[in-house]
Amino acid sequence: MIVIGAGLAGLNAALTLESQGFKVVVLEAADYVGGRTRTYDLPVGPMNAGGETIGPYYARVRDVVARLKVPLIPAPARVGMGNYVNGMLVASTDWATSKANRTAGPERQVQPSALEFYYLSRNNPLPDPGSWTDPDQAKYDVSLETYLRDRGASDEAMRLIDVSINTFDIASGSALAYLRDIRRLQWGIASSSETTRSTYGASSADGFEFNLVKDGTQRLPEAMAGALKGEVRLNHLVRTIDTTGNRVEVTTIDGSRFIGKYVISAVPFSALRNVEIRPRLTGRKFDAVRTSAHGNTLRVFLEFSAPFWDDIGDPALFTDTAIERVFARANESGEVFILDCWMNGNAAYRMDQLPRAQVADLVVKTLAEIRPSTKGKLKVVGSHSWAKDSASACCRHVFNAGQVGLWAKIMGTPHERIHFAGEQTRSIENGMEAAAESGERAAIEVLQRES
Ligand SMILES: Cc1cc2nc3c(=O)[nH]c(=O)nc-3n(C[C@H](O)[C@H](O)[C@H](O)COP(=O)(O)OP(=O)(O)OC[C@H]3O[C@@H](n4cnc5c(N)ncnc54)[C@H](O)[C@@H]3O)c2cc1C
Repeated sequence: MIVIGAGLAGLNAALTLESQGFKVVVLEAADYVGGRTRTYDLPVGPMNAGGETIGPYYARVRDVVARLKVPLIPAPARVGMGNYVNGMLVASTDWATSKANRTAGPERQVQPSALEFYYLSRNNPLPDPGSWTDPDQAKYDVSLETYLRDRGASDEAMRLIDVSINTFDIASGSALAYLRDIRRLQWGIASSSETTRSTYGASSADGFEFNLVKDGTQRLPEAMAGALKGEVRLNHLVRTIDTTGNRVEVTTIDGSRFIGKYVISAVPFSALRNVEIRPRLTGRKFDAVRTSAHGNTLRVFLEFSAPFWDDIGDPALFTDTAIERVFARANESGEVFILDCWMNGNAAYRMDQLPRAQVADLVVKTLAEIRPSTKGKLKVVGSHSWAKDSASACCRHVFNAGQVGLWAKIMGTPHERIHFAGEQTRSIENGMEAAAESGERAAIEVLQRES
């Protein structure tokens, strides 16, 4: 068996196949395992560039963590986030009454970072997470902008939601796919229904276990790869997949050839579209692989030489500027140790058009202007763009308006002897759990064909 991609999906598929006695080789384009769970070992501590928080209902991730004895730590509480909006720096505690707050009516009580959740969580029309593909719900497969407007969101609220939304922008992303994710969160964590929280604002303080992998998320895929009997071939970018009769041949960019009975492709469609597949994918599957949309996230990590948050009290900052949001990350003892400037969607793609050194300068300069207390105290110590700096070529797959109806049911369907895993094939799970679940599902599909 050949597995393409050593992210959580590919590694879980490989472990599942091996547990049933199959011989597996994993081909990975990058020089590390883990894909979108990469960790940078910065001098101030491990910094996860991608997947981080393990939710309470992550059954498969928690199972593999337990089997491989990967140490977890409790996720630290979120650090307070102030606002720089409409040219004014405002403490989170002053937001509701601030002149910078141009939202309307009850929206005024909601922090900008929480507006997205406020509108998408309140009166979520989906009865349960699995219902997102029911024909009855197709009416919500419209843009987030249309959905929000229909629910009375002001123009200003929508402008602020566009900063945090994890799609290209609110004009293109499907409301239905987003409502599915929020319903899943609410299903697992009742307190997530509180509408003044930010989307992933529930925490260990709610009595649930949210965890991080000790020393960085990447330690988990490394343990998974270490537990495999078969090889994980790094630096093996797959170029072609040919299926003929009862065998599959895969070649990599350096000309290496691998023959197997089945392939599990566990790479995002943003990467798979560059692989030549013969016979070709057809119909909707071809369209989904070639044209589906993918979000991007660009992270810029900043060390600070001294605390700077006496000005408004909140170390983190939501902004309506080009640098979007600046999270403040705390260590196990709750001390803020690094800033994490987080741009997503079109803002991240836009920044990716600049040389990285210019992005770093822009982030530091912008912060010095909008938050003078940071002046002379910040230094960029790393950055990562998921569209630009990884073979995955995206942060995550997103359904645009109208695409749930077109593609939700075919994202994971097999083609010839190729089975598909990866978070883009998910149904109701999210993030790392979705990846792990998809790997297990694809492996079971292959096992069923072999039985
Ligand atoms: C910024 C960010 C924050 C996140 N935060 C969280 C979080 O807190 N909690 C959570 O649960 N999830 C989070 N996620 C999501 C989670 O990390 C992903 O859903 C998950 O890791 C995806 O795993 P995957 O195996 O599907 O894909 P990937 O991890 O992308 O694996 C695909 C692999 O395929 C390789 N590849 C690509 N093309 C080829 C090729 N042609 N040949 C060979 N190999 C190839 C890639 O290098 C990669 O290793 C986050 C993601 C990002 C980007």
